[in-house]
Amino acid sequence: MLRVGVHTSISGGVDKSVDRAYQLGCTSFQIFTRNPRGWKASPLKEEEKVLYKTKVRRYGFEGFNVAHMPYLPNLSSPKDDIYEKSLETFINELRRCEELEIPYLVIHLGSHMGSGFESGKKRLVGAIYKAVESVENSVRILLENMAGQKNNMGSRFEDLRKLMDELSGLEDRIGFCFDTAHAFSAGYDLKVKSGVRETVEEFNSLIGWENVYVIHLNDSKHEVGSGRDHHEHIGLGYIGEKGFQYFLEYDFIRSKPLILETPVDSRRGDIGNIAMVWLLAGVEPPKEVFDRWLEALSEDDVDMEIVKRLM
Ligand code: ZN
Ligand code: MN
Ligand code: MN
Repeated sequence: MLRVGVHTSISGGVDKSVDRAYQLGCTSFQIFTRNPRGWKASPLKEEEKVLYKTKVRRYGFEGFNVAHMPYLPNLSSPKDDIYEKSLETFINELRRCEELEIPYLVIHLGSHMGSGFESGKKRLVGAIYKAVESVENSVRILLENMAGQKNNMGSRFEDLRKLMDELSGLEDRIGFCFDTAHAFSAGYDLKVKSGVRETVEEFNSLIGWENVYVIHLNDSKHEVGSGRDHHEHIGLGYIGEKGFQYFLEYDFIRSKPLILETPVDSRRGDIGNIAMVWLLAGVEPPKEVFDRWLEALSEDDVDMEIVKRLM
């Protein structure tokens, strides 16, 4: 069975994210444990923690639930005030994941803001060491490959490798999250078969797919190498259906949690993207997943057409 899901909202309480994931027929899912656009986070309430954990177990998401760091922290910043605030947020997120028994925390690698990769690397690696020393738990920190925006850290695999080399000894605390749209924007051509093969092989020789615990499956609104980070519905962007088909042929890729961070608009909703992944992977979804889809969709819903192609 595939573990396909989307990022769901915690509006109304963290546990509500689990209901949403279940209702969409997800078999994995991701959340922000708090508002991702602010620095402040109110503590998790005892009741929502219990409810979140109970629902994760009830719906079979254990081991396939993911948290993503909020947007503002920059763990590679050369500015002390930003850096300290970012580290504090990071440590706090690690604790929140532990409280919710979330096994993975995806982090962005940040921007060196012109200070250079080496300087950014020292800051980022320092932050990771400080975080794992101050919070001893089993939450695995996943470094996400970036899209290659100006000054951003870790879009090329050789840069990720440099970071990994600095983190040796932390193998049981860290890992990677591979984002297809980011890799594509950073210049890895996931649109054509040869490009997918080369990308998969290069990543394997530098990082190793066994060190990847979560895949972010996103199509891209821009051409390969654009350095821009705008996600598109699966198959409707520049990677295209074929690109995802090739990528999902690898067993060691499609057996991981596949999290979609795709838009929701008049062209397609979450269920449409989830169903599209099952379709392109050539794997039949279990009956329970179909049941959720048919419960959620009306006959004239845009996503219904994709669901029907699976029936
Ligand atoms: Zn991310
Ligand atoms: Mn991502
Ligand atoms: Mn992105």
